[in-house]
Amino acid sequence: MLTAITGINWGDEGKGRMVDLLSENYDVVVRYQGGNNAGHTVVNPRGKFILNLLPSGILRSGVVNVMGNGMVIDLEHLNGEIKNLRDAGVSVTPENLKISDKAVICLPYHKLLDNLEEDRLGDAKFGSTRRGIAPVYGDKYMKRAVRMGELLHPEDLRRRLEGIVDWKNLTVVGGYHSDPITVDGVMEWLETYGAPLRDHVCDTGLYLDQMEKAGKKILFEAQLGALRDIDFGIYPYTTSSSTIAAYAPIGAGIPNHKLSKSIGIMKAYSSCVGEGPFTVELFGEEGEKLRQAGGEFGAATGRPRRVGPFDCVASRYGVRMQGADEIALTKLDVLSYLDRIPVCVAYEVDGQRTTEFPTGAALDRAKPIYEYVPGWQCDISGCRRIQDLPKAAVDYIHFLEQAVGCHISYVSVGAAREQYIVM
Ligand code: GDP
Ligand code: MG
Repeated sequence: MLTAITGINWGDEGKGRMVDLLSENYDVVVRYQGGNNAGHTVVNPRGKFILNLLPSGILRSGVVNVMGNGMVIDLEHLNGEIKNLRDAGVSVTPENLKISDKAVICLPYHKLLDNLEEDRLGDAKFGSTRRGIAPVYGDKYMKRAVRMGELLHPEDLRRRLEGIVDWKNLTVVGGYHSDPITVDGVMEWLETYGAPLRDHVCDTGLYLDQMEKAGKKILFEAQLGALRDIDFGIYPYTTSSSTIAAYAPIGAGIPNHKLSKSIGIMKAYSSCVGEGPFTVELFGEEGEKLRQAGGEFGAATGRPRRVGPFDCVASRYGVRMQGADEIALTKLDVLSYLDRIPVCVAYEVDGQRTTEFPTGAALDRAKPIYEYVPGWQCDISGCRRIQDLPKAAVDYIHFLEQAVGCHISYVSVGAAREQYIVM
């Protein structure tokens, strides 16, 4: 069985916490795209953890974790993440963490280029996390990236790097007038941070194929959400990889298998990090209240996230792009302070009402049309069954279910593992 857990919105929906919960019933958890440009926060009996690169299944003993070929991996960052877990008593070994030989390495010069370019853009910046993600995915498609498997053949790697570094310096030195990068410098970094990971590198596609054929259950964990997908998201304010469920078997290395189930993680309100159109954005005191209630500060960067009411137009599009079979609705408890809850039910674009998510200039001009539903104004974080929820909260869940056209099967009411309700 192959299940994907993906984001319906802009990311930070709570995918990590749902993977942490559901991985109990799975043998393998696979991250299949992205790098350390986002974070998954998991709160469970072992403590509170922020994972940027490692699959959230790493916190469950008995689960094998795979970092797939669709990922871009900053080795220095990964070493740090593994160290933090080991310090907290979590075991990370080649047995429970396997890294694809085809995953791409995010090098220090990718971070450098990300920074140089954001600085050059000034006020027109993309709001990049400056972790090198766009430059390294760019290199992947330019066929000038270094892959994990190359760590096992340093002589060949050095030879390839010579050509790559020459080419990079055309931009670094010629374009940005920055100090040249050197083959020795890159090789030294690769040795320092690559050596401890070598034993984890293998053909993870072959491994997953064998696991699937042996009847094992595999869970795919996405990063970010549908609206940040490189093809279907709010281009160019997207990430540089495919965040959708359909990409999971590809980014994991098993395109010969089909997904059995797609679970979309959808937040009870909206939040987004970075630049670009965000139709439902709340400003001033209203926005600040929601941001504080939801603790909306980036897990990877600490940046305050932009926030707003639930967006039915964007979320219904997200449900479609993710091919969601069911939904986990997260952070419902955050809305408990509101006496009436705004919900964006449609957009107005150039005087026309629409419920289909627009692209490009039309999205820039879209204005939200709100309806208000009654709030519940009481603490629901202790609720564990539908019967425990106030009627207004159940009504809100059903309202969203209708609006996005997909069954909500889980609702979370707090960050801790057990704070959820099965619908
Ligand atoms: P991800 O990137 O989709 O994994 O989500 P993040 O971890 O970046 O953001 C979700 C945040 O909300 C984290 O800080 C979680 O601990 C927290 N969280 C998750 N579920 C709930 C919930 O039901 N209620 C509350 N109040 N917080 C939650
Ligand atoms: Mg996140």
